[in-house]
Amino acid sequence: MSTSVGRPTPRAAATLAARVAAGESPLGRARRVGRILRALAVAYPDAHCELDFRTPLDLAVATILSAQCTDERVNQVTPGLFAAYPTAADYAGADRTELEERIRPTGFYRNKTNSLIGLGSAVVEKFGGELPNRLEDLVTLPGIGRKTANVILGNAFGIPGITVDTHFGRLVRRWGWTSEEDPVKVEHEIGELVPKRDWTIVSHYVIFHGRRVCHARKPACGACTLASDCPAFGTGPTDPAEAAKLVKGVERPHLLELAGLGDLAGDGR
Ligand code: SF4
Repeated sequence: MSTSVGRPTPRAAATLAARVAAGESPLGRARRVGRILRALAVAYPDAHCELDFRTPLDLAVATILSAQCTDERVNQVTPGLFAAYPTAADYAGADRTELEERIRPTGFYRNKTNSLIGLGSAVVEKFGGELPNRLEDLVTLPGIGRKTANVILGNAFGIPGITVDTHFGRLVRRWGWTSEEDPVKVEHEIGELVPKRDWTIVSHYVIFHGRRVCHARKPACGACTLASDCPAFGTGPTDPAEAAKLVKGVERPHLLELAGLGDLAGDGR
């Protein structure tokens, strides 16, 4: 029989959910945010941007290609792409048909080709061929919205940025860190809760946890190390054996070990 670590009783889970729904005290929420951040740091010590890149321009391109596509698939396409188009001028002067063929596996390749050619042209014309490192400049470029700009700032320039996409929003709302739906409001509210130096890494932690444990439809609540601090505990299966099967990724044995379910690591996948 598995033992659990930090899994709340139904009563404790209901108490936390009610407290958060009623409006948690700022101090209580700050402490809970701190505990969740520490647990995520232990769970994902190597959390990082899962898109491969060498330069800020590469990351801008990879992020554009990642729309409606997995990072794995983008990473299969980009080595050849980056070698063929090392500079903004190369995208600006690209042969459309050739570029479309290269990025076709990432889907929506016609629109993405428009964005890449437009990006290259704008970087050449407005920024002398160098990708800018300011949010207000990045968002003027074709294919780059606020989310992409924060990915680039945080990962290619080392400037803290919170990356809010639908998955990030889903998790932080489940955790009761915000009730906002608007991505910019979410970004600002989380920016108040999390120290600025942690903005980039917290984006990775949240995305890692969303992909491995806290899935949109069926989160693995019964095998989640955040369970005792999560007001949404019970959104997915709370039975450890059932939940353990939902945990994904190469970190699965480590994550199950942290949840006190190491003996279930051989089940599921
Ligand atoms: S898996 Fe369940 S307990 Fe864990 S963070 Fe998601 S909703 Fe909360």
